[in-house]
Amino acid sequence: MQPVMSEKPPPIRIAIISSHEAPACQVVSLPFSLEGYPPVELEVFQGVASLSPAELRQVLKERQPAGFDIILDGEQLAPDLGEAPFVSGPQARMLEALLCQLQELRQKQEINAGIINSATDAIVTINEDHIIIGYNQGAEQILGYTREEALGQNLKLIIPPPHKEVHEQYVRRYVATRQAHLIGKHVRLNAQRRDGTEFPMSISFSVAEVRGNLYFTGVIRDITETKEMEDRLLQSERLAAVGNTVTHIAHEIKNPLLIIGGFARQLIKATELDDKARQKLSIIAEEVGRLEGMVAEMRDFTRPSESHKTLGRVEPLLAEVLEFFQENFQEHHIQVKRQEDGPLPQVNFDPKQIRQVLINLIKNAVEAMPRGGELTVATRVNGPDLEISITDTGEGMAPDVAANIFQPYFTTKEKGTGLGLAICNFIVKEQHGGCLLADSTPGQGSTFTIRLPLAEGSPG
Ligand code: ADP
Ligand code: MG
Repeated sequence: MQPVMSEKPPPIRIAIISSHEAPACQVVSLPFSLEGYPPVELEVFQGVASLSPAELRQVLKERQPAGFDIILDGEQLAPDLGEAPFVSGPQARMLEALLCQLQELRQKQEINAGIINSATDAIVTINEDHIIIGYNQGAEQILGYTREEALGQNLKLIIPPPHKEVHEQYVRRYVATRQAHLIGKHVRLNAQRRDGTEFPMSISFSVAEVRGNLYFTGVIRDITETKEMEDRLLQSERLAAVGNTVTHIAHEIKNPLLIIGGFARQLIKATELDDKARQKLSIIAEEVGRLEGMVAEMRDFTRPSESHKTLGRVEPLLAEVLEFFQENFQEHHIQVKRQEDGPLPQVNFDPKQIRQVLINLIKNAVEAMPRGGELTVATRVNGPDLEISITDTGEGMAPDVAANIFQPYFTTKEKGTGLGLAICNFIVKEQHGGCLLADSTPGQGSTFTIRLPLAEGSPG
């Protein structure tokens, strides 16, 4: 039979008259068709052995026997059906068996197609000429081309160079030698979506030979997320290595720094020094102080202290830290505003660690306002959390800076360590189960908000 190319060929209706009680075909009256061929509709009249030929004729008449293109009656249960095209005896049995087998085959095919189509991976089949002949829904989703757009196209549609050449060479080699070194393996390539974006994919190949023709199927998985995770892991491994080095260096330079600083401070007091020498020594003492601070920050980051939380109020701690910065604020022309939204409930926190967080955030705020400004420290209860926010009217952060501030060693400062916010984040998030938020407008200022979960049973 030649494929009928018209859009929708009219169905061929077949009635099967059967004496079996059990269905002759597993699914009856299931229209089935292969692409391009007219569909075949089966109607099985089963278990009709108990009917007399007259009754059977009546049943078929009600179902319009003229509407059937052919009536198969292997057992010759209803001889003579008038004008209806009628096949009986062994021919009918053979046709019936063929039809039922075809129907089951079609069903299996539909199940397979359903599995392939509903798979979340992209499944793409090509022939020896690299033409796409199979393309599932997963592929539509991952690659962006519809089935209609992809079928019949060259594979280069989705595999950009240089991977395309590698792939083509591979197929050519397989066709010539039948030696498959990639079959069954997962390979990483880049694929290209309809919108032109490339993404990393893992592809596993299989090959099928059907009547002398080779078909290659690739199961493609988008591994963008896996790749990102791997990159992050690599990054954290690198950081761990850097951390070890830093701990080592910090340990090595801590004592010499202490000695240099101590001697410098002693010498400053010596009477026989002239002013210039004393000024130089002050600079040494100051720089040593800064280096000591840096070493302490690095040590804190690489070996975070354990937290010892107690139930208490944050207000006294805030007052203490602001007092600590008093001179610093004056020196930098910074006005401090304290906003309180009623009395605060107690929270479970480690005062030493939260002091460190507040110091780091206020230090950053001061550094962001080299020409002075306003620092607002606000406290409030927000849902299940206590919030402390520190707002400055400083330089603010560009989006690409803001996106990285919690990354260890990220700094935009000439003498920064880039560890302050990483430590704050670790303390607030990991050690207190809270979160640290940053909000900033370039040129206008930034707000850093610490959220600490309220203790169970706290009012508010
Ligand atoms: P460091 O202060 O050593 O640079 P931090 O981790 O404390 O390291 O801060 C990282 C970066 O975040 C800073 O270099 C700066 O670019 C940015 N940043 C932090 N706080 C502020 C702020 N209040 N205003 C503007 N930028 C800030
Ligand atoms: Mg800092």
